[in-house]
Amino acid sequence: MKIKKILIANRGEIALRIIRACKEMGITSVAIFSEPDLNGLWVRRADEAYPILGDPIKAYLDYERIIDIAKKAGVDAIHPGYGFLSENGDFARACERAGIKFIGPRADDIDLYGDKMASKTAMKKVGMPVLEGTEEPIIDIKEAEKIAKQIGFPVIIKAAFGGGGRGMRIVRSEEEFKDLFEAATSESMKFFGRGEVFIEKYVENPRHIEVQILADTHGNVIHLGIRDCSIQRRHQKVIEIAESPSLSKDTRDKICEVSVNALKKLGYVSAGTVEFLVDENENFYFIEMNTRVQVEHPVSEVVSGVDIIQEMIRVAEGEKLSITQDDVNIRGFAIEFRLNSEDPTKNFMPTTGTIKNLMLPGGIGIRNDNALYEGYKLPTNYDSMIGKLIVYGKDWEDTVNKARRALDELNIGGVVTNIPLHRAVIRDEDFIKGKFTTKYLDEKLEKLD
Ligand code: ADP
Repeated sequence: MKIKKILIANRGEIALRIIRACKEMGITSVAIFSEPDLNGLWVRRADEAYPILGDPIKAYLDYERIIDIAKKAGVDAIHPGYGFLSENGDFARACERAGIKFIGPRADDIDLYGDKMASKTAMKKVGMPVLEGTEEPIIDIKEAEKIAKQIGFPVIIKAAFGGGGRGMRIVRSEEEFKDLFEAATSESMKFFGRGEVFIEKYVENPRHIEVQILADTHGNVIHLGIRDCSIQRRHQKVIEIAESPSLSKDTRDKICEVSVNALKKLGYVSAGTVEFLVDENENFYFIEMNTRVQVEHPVSEVVSGVDIIQEMIRVAEGEKLSITQDDVNIRGFAIEFRLNSEDPTKNFMPTTGTIKNLMLPGGIGIRNDNALYEGYKLPTNYDSMIGKLIVYGKDWEDTVNKARRALDELNIGGVVTNIPLHRAVIRDEDFIKGKFTTKYLDEKLEKLD
C-alpha cells in the first residue's frame, strides 16, 4: 500500500525531520500543534496543520483527538517520532483500529520491549548476554534487599516502566540500600505514575554502545553500525557518536551480529535500537531495546547514507528495505551535540527566551537538525532539547576538527544554552583520545564545581 499522506504526532525538530522525509518522497504531511506551539516551524513547513487546544503537554498525548484529526485530514499513516506516543502500544493499536498505519513496530512488540524486564528475558532466550537481575518488577523493600544481596553489590535500581535516566539509583552497600530504594521508587512514581522498580548488577565504568537496526515485514533485518553514547549527564545522553573511537572492531562486529540475529529470531519490524553496556574488558550486556526512531539517529544516517525515516515509511507500506546489509557502507565518524536550553553554570536549569542572532554552522560535514529561527519564542512547556548539531568527517581526527570549528561558528542568541559545555568537551584531551565511559561527563563537571 503506497502511503500518500502522513500525520506527524510530534513537535519540534523531529516533526520537521519527518516532514522533510515526506516531502522528498512526495507524501503530503500533516502537522499538529498545541496552543503555545502556534509559531513552530514544523507547523509552517507541513502541508496542513491542525491545532489541539487545552493542556499543552496533553495535546501531543491525546490520541483520540489525534486520530480524529488524522481521520478528518484523510491520512493513511501516522509517524509518532520519539517521546510522547511513540512507545505506546495502545496508540499503535488505536491507529490500526481506525484504519491508519502506525509507522513503527507492531503494537505487541512496543509493549514487550517497553517492559525492560520482559525485554531482557526475551532477548536472553535468543542468546543475548544480559546482566544478572530481577525478572519481575518489585515494590517490596524486604524482597528487594534480599535480591540485591544475592546479586551482590554494587547494584543499580531502575524504574521498571521508566526511561530518560529517571528513577535510577546506584547502591554500593547494604547500609545505603533502604534510602536509595525509597528514592528510586518515589522518583519512579513521580515521573511514571508507577513505583515498581527492578534491580540489576551495576557495571563499573561502562561504555554505552547501541546498534541501529532496520527490519522489514519480509524478514530482512540489517544494522547501520553502532553509536557510542557514553557522554551522558546523570544517565542522560548529551553527545552521541557513530561509530566508537575506542571500541575494538571485533567487539563492534560481534555486537552488531548478535543484535541482528536476535531481532531476526524475534521477528522485529521497523527501526529499533539495541542498547548495550560494555565493560572494561569489552564484555557486553544488553540493557534495553528502543522501538522508535531515536534522537541520535542522524549520526547513523550520515555515516551510512541511509535515511532511517524514509526506510520506516517504506516498511510501513509493506515494501522491502531499499538496501541489504552488503549495501551498507559505514564511512568515517559522526558526532551529535544535543543543544539544550539550559544553563550549565546553574546546575543545568532550564532556560527560556526568544531566539536572536541565530548563526548555524555550515560547510563540509555539517548537519543542523532544529526547528529554530530568529524571533522564535521558546515555549516553556516542553523538553529543553531545542536542536542538534551533527558533524561528520572521514576519520576521528577530522570529525573532531570539524566539530570544534562548527561549535565555534554556532551562535544561538537570546537564550542560555549548553553550547559552552560542548566547546569544552571537544577540546578535552580525554575526549579527543576517545578515553571516556558513562562517568566521563559527571566526573569532569564535578571537578569544575
Ligand atoms: P533509560 O531507559 O532510563 O535511559 P537505560 O537502561 O537505557 O535507562 O540506562 C541509561 C544509562 O544508565 C546507561 O547508558 C548507563 O549509563 C546507566 N546504566 C543503566 N544500567 C546500568 C548498569 N547495570 N550498570 C551501570 N550503568 C548502568
